[in-house]
Amino acid sequence: MSSHLYLTGMVLSAMPVGEYDKRISLLTRERGKVSGFVRGARRANNHMIAAANPFVFGRFEAYEGRNSYTFSKAEVENYFESISTDLSNVYYGSYFLEMAEYYGRENLDESERLKLLYQSLRALGSGKFSSELVKIVYELRTMFINGEYPNVYSCKTCGKKQEIGYFSIKEHSVFCREHAEGKDTVRLSDSVLYAMQFIMGTPIEKLYTFKLTPEAEKELSDIVTRYRKKYHGHEYKSEAMLSDSLLSDKPLI
Ligand SMILES: [Zn+2]
Repeated sequence: MSSHLYLTGMVLSAMPVGEYDKRISLLTRERGKVSGFVRGARRANNHMIAAANPFVFGRFEAYEGRNSYTFSKAEVENYFESISTDLSNVYYGSYFLEMAEYYGRENLDESERLKLLYQSLRALGSGKFSSELVKIVYELRTMFINGEYPNVYSCKTCGKKQEIGYFSIKEHSVFCREHAEGKDTVRLSDSVLYAMQFIMGTPIEKLYTFKLTPEAEKELSDIVTRYRKKYHGHEYKSEAMLSDSLLSDKPLI
């Protein structure tokens, strides 16, 4: 006995199974992260051939079996071709998908994570923002969604909200000058402190409305990367590929 339902979400990964099928993982509005089979998705002319691929966002018709779902139809809303047809965007986008797959959970409300993923891929594909900035915003907001993020709004000791540009990775918090004394802190510029507050405090739909100077972007990237590596130590395969591609002087294609 299986029940029939509709799920709206994005394909995070797709793997070939058997001769003609695929197994896909989806981040959905209704059920969090789910996975299941798409029968015949690798047959020529199959109606699911284009839908059963990473970055595809749409409404999927599914049957819920005892252990897994079967996806039978899809109304695709966005293929994100601006991502899948540009190799640099594929590297960044794959990293976003892998992080969503790592943290996404079944039967939990993952609608904020889905929204963040969708808006970040849009920002990446728009070409209006540096890919590194989109990556930092995505990472920091993901930490916020996960509930493990630094306090950037007030001094951890006295609660002061002004002149608090001293950040301690160890203490997960900013401090005022007085209370930063004796602690291992990094001095944050005003624009970086403000950017961190904005990234965690703004509705996701409005996240991609700011830019930073290259210097501020580098400063923000360094601090977010150090924080993430210390507390969110998972190593992503796609991030290693991303670093290799950035280090290489050769063109990506
Ligand atoms: Zn203080």
